[in-house]
Amino acid sequence: MTDKSNIGVALTKCYYCNKNDRILMNTRLTPTKARQVETAHGKVIDMEPCNECSDLMKKGIILLTIDPEKSSPGWEKESIPNPYRTGGFFVVTEDFCKRVFPPVMFEWARKHRFMYIEHKAAEGMGLFQQVMENTGIEGASDEG
Ligand SMILES: [Zn+2]
Repeated sequence: MTDKSNIGVALTKCYYCNKNDRILMNTRLTPTKARQVETAHGKVIDMEPCNECSDLMKKGIILLTIDPEKSSPGWEKESIPNPYRTGGFFVVTEDFCKRVFPPVMFEWARKHRFMYIEHKAAEGMGLFQQVMENTGIEGASDEG
């Protein structure tokens, strides 16, 4: 016999796009484990990309815009870094990153398939503008 109160279910969010990601269910049917699972509901629990982001990462590199001044000090040292996001989400080619970022940053981005970028820098590069003009940064990376 299983008691339903011992089954915890949660829908987690993707770290990168913040859309709904995975459904978690506890396998140990204890109230404590159930509560632990339920606290994950609506939250980012790891750096695993959702299917959509995973596909985008195969095509290019995801840029997430942040405001360093509004971010908590030491955010970059957290296991799940949580800088202050300004809502920009762009997918650019490796080639683009190589041209605009210093080599150390480019190597990091190439390995991790995403990168934080200062909101102002993204504006300076015209990323927001390009999306508005619908020239399609995303998807312009068919060369693989
Ligand atoms: Zn995602």
